[in-house]
Amino acid sequence: MIVEPSIAKTRSLIDRWRTSGETIGLVPTMGYFHAGHLALMNQCRQTADRTVVSLFVNPTQFGADEDLDLYPRDFEGDCDKARAAGVDMVFCPEAGAMYGAAHRTIVTVSELTEGLCGVDRPDHFTGVTTVVTKLFNITGPDYAFFGEKDFQQLTVIMRLVNDLNFNIKVVGVGIVRERDGLAMSSRNAYLSASEREEAVVLYRALKTIRDEAVCKRYRDSSALLTSGRALIERSPACTVDYLSIADERTLQPQHTVTDRCRVFGAIKVSGRIRLIDNLALYG
Ligand code: AMP
Repeated sequence: MIVEPSIAKTRSLIDRWRTSGETIGLVPTMGYFHAGHLALMNQCRQTADRTVVSLFVNPTQFGADEDLDLYPRDFEGDCDKARAAGVDMVFCPEAGAMYGAAHRTIVTVSELTEGLCGVDRPDHFTGVTTVVTKLFNITGPDYAFFGEKDFQQLTVIMRLVNDLNFNIKVVGVGIVRERDGLAMSSRNAYLSASEREEAVVLYRALKTIRDEAVCKRYRDSSALLTSGRALIERSPACTVDYLSIADERTLQPQHTVTDRCRVFGAIKVSGRIRLIDNLALYG
């Protein structure tokens, strides 16, 4: 496995693969790999001839009061996991190489980025779409893999690829969960044992809403959300950031559940660890 921090060398190595007729898959990540990341890598390996994983904790997608400096990192451990997963290359640029002092360009997707996580994190998605555009231009992939855990991000990237005519197929990969249902996340590493036990309440609330919508055919979003919110509020460490039933293509909140709806949630554990999750309300 090649571990390459240089943008120029990454380009020329991938160019060589492309010239010899191989297809390229890209898995953008911020590292601290868990089974969710590995599912993306596996899907990539099954789809493309070459699997490139970018490992970059992108400073521009963190707000000033967020956890950029604390974000969990384990470079050696990540390289071992990627190697074991059959990854061909880890591209791991320095922040200074990605954003030189003269950097002035941003890429913004409107509307889709304004609700859900965009309310609390107004600049987050511009950071994501800017870095993903740069990663696409550096690696020139045929396929790019994103997790449904960050469903809003996946939707925004699909819009970006369409709107800017990137010749890239975006592949969404299902959410990988712990045994009790908690969605895997690098940020779960911040949780103490008791916070970890409480954190699963987000999944439980989404699951309750899903069961009521799918099994009992309840259609009134506000009643469904009220019962989900009550469940989370029973957990002393957890506060609701948002809970929303929205159309999965437009991400617009829906008063009545349709067969294109998902329930999206974000909580804060102990006021500092923000966790997100979502579930389809059909199928
Ligand atoms: P991150 O390193 O947190 O930026 O995540 C990198 C990619 O992995 C993103 O496309 C995430 O949506 C995806 N991902 C993170 N956690 C999970 C999970 N539990 N299941 C599936 N995909 C995930």
